[in-house]
Amino acid sequence: MTAQLIDGKLIAQQVREQVTAEVAKRVAAGKPRPGLATVLVGDRVDSATYVAAKQKACEELGMVSYHHPLPAEITQLELERVIRDLNEDELVNGILVQLPLPAHLDEERILSLISIEKDVDGFSPINIGRLAQKGREPLFVPCTPYGCIYLLERAGVKIEGANAVVLGRSNIVGMPAALLLIGKNATVTVCHSRTKNLPEVVRQADILIAAIGRAEMVRGDWIKPGAAVIDVGINGVPLLNPDGSPLISEKTGKPRQKLVGDVNFEEAKEVAGFITPVPGGVGPMTIAMLMRNTLRAAEIQQDR
Ligand code: NDP
Repeated sequence: MTAQLIDGKLIAQQVREQVTAEVAKRVAAGKPRPGLATVLVGDRVDSATYVAAKQKACEELGMVSYHHPLPAEITQLELERVIRDLNEDELVNGILVQLPLPAHLDEERILSLISIEKDVDGFSPINIGRLAQKGREPLFVPCTPYGCIYLLERAGVKIEGANAVVLGRSNIVGMPAALLLIGKNATVTVCHSRTKNLPEVVRQADILIAAIGRAEMVRGDWIKPGAAVIDVGINGVPLLNPDGSPLISEKTGKPRQKLVGDVNFEEAKEVAGFITPVPGGVGPMTIAMLMRNTLRAAEIQQDR
């Protein structure tokens, strides 16, 4: 392996320790514990797992979690009322609406109702708009892209002047990651499903952020030697028996999976200068940055 491994698990743990220490200092000074409201509509198992991890992190770091599980059939007006009430609630510093919402709900409108000072996911149009404008500062940056940039900076990768390629243009990862890189003076190319000659484009990248949700699609020979590779993808691929049949878990009776990124790690690590593993790279950073954003929300609201 020639690439330097960027250990997201370790860096996320350090962020969590910093936040824990800061929260403890605030509480010792008589300030209320920062509070995060999580809003979960419906019973998607993946969403419930993510929200549970966010609640657990809150408690571990000395913050308070206020959970709002809501039925899948909630109406738009009822959900809007929940958000308005949370905007008014002084114990709640951050509001996180777990996405995706059921199809009958207007996600854009719900996100736009979250008070900008409580928008710890950074998805409200005002925060995203500020991120996209020169000379304007969002109060909060979306957590996964924020984690990607934090990892680059901690690894000592020079962003200014670098050619950066972002694979993916989603609202939650690709697009805000590209905006953040532009804000840090990289020259950015954003690729998506209609991009032509993808390997050629990726080969120009000093910094690559891959967020497409396609298991190991980026091959080693797409990577510029010495590039910094941040792999956001989380993809389950089936584990196989030596005869090629799916490996079945004795415990659950279901096919076993392993998690891989969007980048072929084994190939890329021989070419890249820096690389994040999957799991243990960007994944742990997302919740760590959410905790950082929640602390910041409390500072904004309680320290003025
Ligand atoms: P989306 O499905 O919302 O977006 C995928 C993007 O990739 C789209 O812009 C799409 O293009 C593009 N794309 C898809 N296939 C190709 C292809 N073959 N070639 C080029 N571009 C392609 O995904 P997300 O952004 O939500 O997530 C991306 C990955 O990151 C997933 O694996 C997800 O699990 C993971 N993730 C990890 C997080 C973490 O905490 N580590 C958090 C969030 C996501 P187009 O716009 O043209 O459709």
